[in-house]
Amino acid sequence: MYNEKMYSLGSKRSIIREIFEYCKQRALEIGKDKVFDFSIGNPSVEPPKAISEAIMDLTKNADSVLLHGYTSAQGDLSVRQAIAKHINDRFSAGVSENNIYMTCGAAASLTISLKALFNAGDECILFAPFFTEYRVFVENASGVVIVSKPMEKTFQIDIADFESKITEKTKAVIINSPNNPSGVVYSEETIKSVCAILEKKQAEYNHPIYLIADEPYRELVYDDICVPYIMNYYNNTIVCYSFSKSLSLPGERIGYIAVNPKMENSNEIYLSVCGAGRSLGYVCAPSLFQQVIKKTIGAKCDVNIYKENRDILYKNLTEYGYECVKPDGAFYLFVKALEPDAYKFFEKAKKKEILVVPCDDFGVSGYVRIAYCVDKERIINALPAFKALAKEYNK
Ligand code: PLP
Repeated sequence: MYNEKMYSLGSKRSIIREIFEYCKQRALEIGKDKVFDFSIGNPSVEPPKAISEAIMDLTKNADSVLLHGYTSAQGDLSVRQAIAKHINDRFSAGVSENNIYMTCGAAASLTISLKALFNAGDECILFAPFFTEYRVFVENASGVVIVSKPMEKTFQIDIADFESKITEKTKAVIINSPNNPSGVVYSEETIKSVCAILEKKQAEYNHPIYLIADEPYRELVYDDICVPYIMNYYNNTIVCYSFSKSLSLPGERIGYIAVNPKMENSNEIYLSVCGAGRSLGYVCAPSLFQQVIKKTIGAKCDVNIYKENRDILYKNLTEYGYECVKPDGAFYLFVKALEPDAYKFFEKAKKKEILVVPCDDFGVSGYVRIAYCVDKERIINALPAFKALAKEYNK
């Protein structure tokens, strides 16, 4: 027989995918322009021009083994060197190519890192609200999910709650800033408090507690907001990076893991990452895109397009009576449902062809996520429907 757990994961899609599939079906029935799909975090901004130029140049001029052959399991040496240099140029983190492991995006970075660290029963703390797939990834690494609740309204980390959730079994904490689904960027003060608590608890329990920084949205920030580079605050840090959102390349499956060289046993942890990649079959990330990344390192998408979407949505929705924190990054608005049950609210919104994601699976009930990585036109066209929906609730 097959594995029951895997069957249940495969037969019951994530809520985001479920709604996304519904949107595609609904668009066929009534027309794409009539469906206000805000379900999935598929970047709407064009990748930087440098990406297509690099692809054309490489496919025209580069050796086909370099582009389409196997690289080293952990990624091409020169690509890892380029990434390490880029990290050091920006954050002076002292990283080398021997700390970098190329992956198929942040999902692979996370599953590899968790597999590298976890033994059965180890606990992983997630700060709510969190990306729904974390639960799947942690449990697949035989870990146990422990949820730390956020501060009300701001959705910053509740430091006292976090401290109360750390036990002798805590192996790692996943931190995601800018955050999916809240769009919140954790302040430097928050990061310092989290790290101070972790240092204290490591000393108390006499074993390392790892901070896994999931950073697919690092570059998507507005208004000169600074996203602290966690490695510079805490030695036992592993960075899980992805180019999916920062360069609008989610379908190309490219990212990396960076193990902090300042970590005790850094080399052993890196080798464990290599072993986890091997055991999961995540070796040799896509070769062409490794080379594209090397050629375009530092290229940027136009985040002002997302910022404009955020501003239009935030201004209008709050005027209509919706409550939400103004996001500093990523491309999500985390909105309080207009009734306690987010699923019921979702159903009412659906009747107006507005598709948002109820967030109970993100660890916070009573909220929905609006992914505003869509054409501005869709946002403008959806505003009357959002207004009518609020009116139904006497707003
Ligand atoms: N982590 C977070 C917080 C995400 O939002 C996503 C995707 O939406 C991922 C990880 C997975 O990213 P990737 O497509 O690079 O695997």
